[in-house]
Amino acid sequence: MNFVIDAELCVACLACVRVCPTDAIAVAGDEPLLLQVVDDSCIRCGQCVPACPHGAVKVNGEIGRALAIVSQGDGVLILSPESVAHFYPATPELLINACYAAGFRAVTRGVIGDELVAAEYLKLWEEEPWGTLIRSTDPVVVETVRSQYPELVPYLAPVTVPAVAEARYLRAQHGPELQIAVAGICPPVSSPDLDAAITFGDLEQLFQIRGVSVLSQPTLFQRVPEERRRHLSAAGGLPLALLEEARQSSRRFRKIRGLDALKAVARAVSVDRLDLGFVDILSNEGPLDHPLSGPPAELYWRRELLRTVEPPRSGTSVLDRTVVASVGATFEIKHRRVQADPEVVEGILEAIGKGPNGRPWDCRACGFETCRRFAEAAALGRASMRQCSPYQERRAEDAQRAAAVDTMTGLSTYRVLRDRLAFEVERSKRSNEGFAVLFLDLDRFKEVNDQYGHEAGNDILRAVADEIRNAVRASDVASRYGGDEFVVILTRTDLVGGARVAEALRAGIEGVGRRLGYLPGLVTVSIGLAEFDPAEPSEGDLLVAADRALYRAKAAGRNAVA
Ligand code: SF4
Ligand code: SF4
Ligand code: SF4
Repeated sequence: MNFVIDAELCVACLACVRVCPTDAIAVAGDEPLLLQVVDDSCIRCGQCVPACPHGAVKVNGEIGRALAIVSQGDGVLILSPESVAHFYPATPELLINACYAAGFRAVTRGVIGDELVAAEYLKLWEEEPWGTLIRSTDPVVVETVRSQYPELVPYLAPVTVPAVAEARYLRAQHGPELQIAVAGICPPVSSPDLDAAITFGDLEQLFQIRGVSVLSQPTLFQRVPEERRRHLSAAGGLPLALLEEARQSSRRFRKIRGLDALKAVARAVSVDRLDLGFVDILSNEGPLDHPLSGPPAELYWRRELLRTVEPPRSGTSVLDRTVVASVGATFEIKHRRVQADPEVVEGILEAIGKGPNGRPWDCRACGFETCRRFAEAAALGRASMRQCSPYQERRAEDAQRAAAVDTMTGLSTYRVLRDRLAFEVERSKRSNEGFAVLFLDLDRFKEVNDQYGHEAGNDILRAVADEIRNAVRASDVASRYGGDEFVVILTRTDLVGGARVAEALRAGIEGVGRRLGYLPGLVTVSIGLAEFDPAEPSEGDLLVAADRALYRAKAAGRNAVA
């Protein structure tokens, strides 16, 4: 099965990332975030499908191949018994008749596969001693062992999944050329023994394409049905006798549900060297409990439905003893995921920063359980920094700060000046206290730049900015208006006070040139002064008034205050 994310439906809520046990959902791009399932890391557990509130995770089987089989009209379909719940209210009779009508030559119910596997497990159970044997009929467990706990591979029971066992049996019966498709909740993929593996959703689609309506089929079997009775097995392929003998967990039999237990199993087997007996492990409570089989709240209903259509058990074996088919399996270790470069991971963790308690935030907003897991995924290109809220907030603050501070001089920018000017006007009106504005422009600065170069010009600008900063109070605003122009707001200051500060600044800036080693009179400033008087608030812009005064200072011969 392929799990894919439909970019049209995905709103990047990251719910799927949160539930994925193998971090197989990569998040790329900046705006918008693009999510993608990394096939190599996906263990096909199906958790992401019900987790997505927008139906954006799609599961695709090999429907093209299944269509090719039905169009030839001589293939077999192994239809898992759970189909009864998926296609309800259609009865097994309606459903199987529909499969025939769609073009399958024969339809089996997966019972033979369960029987074959159960017989093999019984054989293994009776062969003592076997130390630890892990049930291998859940593809999700097998995939997880192969990719994450390779130390457990030698302990996997050498038994294949029931669908594959049945396919081998059918070919042994009817010839190696037989085309076989399997339909299930999440059937095994890429098996050389199966020509097509499709989901029940794919089967519905196949019916549509072939123009077959399930509910319009005859209500009785149109052909003698293939074997539907069990003798040895319970659903899923464990022998009933074994389950009854070891009803409670014992030293020879352990029942485990969920992948989380694998870590402890791996430790017990490979570190503590314990013999665990037969480990009956499934990723959930069986196919009917699979995330793709429907809401967990309806599990009881699904079980009951299946129980009611299950025919009585056969007293004798339902397998044809003359048919010899292998149910063996070998499991190769899958290379572990590429490890992230530790230096890159540390760099990302540093960029994320820590919480107020000095520890990693681990807030899970990104979909990962910890900052470290996020950083590892990000280092492999599977996560985007846009997922991390604390990082984004800090970046927004930095951007705000950057917009407020002029990078060259460290003074406020025009944006801050504009906002503070509006604020001071309002405050002045309320408090009845005026304030003054100084507009400063360096004299003949272009000539200095041309003569001594831009680096020298920048040094002068920085030194002038220092001079202004030192001359004003913390409550005042010193800003760079642009180029070699500066504006200062002197709060609670009248014209007389403003003129005093302006004169001090003029003299100070004249001294800057001398300190930097320039000829006297090369670095000077002209300053225009304007006042906001709340008693007579002028209609015009205060900056314009200060600018006009500046021109008067220039006209008066520069290096002056007006
Ligand atoms: S099927 Fe499972 S492993 Fe694959 S992407 Fe979905 S949650 Fe992750
Ligand atoms: S759960 Fe995943 S696929 Fe669904 S909308 Fe959210 S991010 Fe997209
Ligand atoms: S701080 Fe960022 S990386 Fe860490 S858990 Fe929260 S969102 Fe994820």
